Amino acid sequence: MKKLTSSESLITINHYKNLLAAEGIRTEIRNEYLGSIMGEMPFAETWPELWVVNTLEFDRAEQIIEEIETASPSEPWKCLNCGEQNEGQFAVCWKCNTPHDIEIGGQ
Ligand SMILES: [Zn+2]
Repeated sequence: MKKLTSSESLITINHYKNLLAAEGIRTEIRNEYLGSIMGEMPFAETWPELWVVNTLEFDRAEQIIEEIETASPSEPWKCLNCGEQNEGQFAVCWKCNTPHDIEIGGQ
């Protein structure tokens, strides 16, 4: 097990987990519940963390996360399909999986 990344948003961590799972990389989330204690623990150590189960896959996992973070816009965006607010690094809606850049009715 090796720690890949942490984020104050469990949604982000879940998003990464799903993307890595799609690449066949198994990960585990730690501090999943600690981070939800509002206002009590402002330190990064209590943020949800994403750990790569197989350390041999760590480098690849890191690369994938890096690509997601650099390739995506950083501005929050609103899903055109379900109206959910998404963080900028999400390429697809965390709720309904609609791609960010989809053109509804634009075909
Ligand atoms: Zn959506």
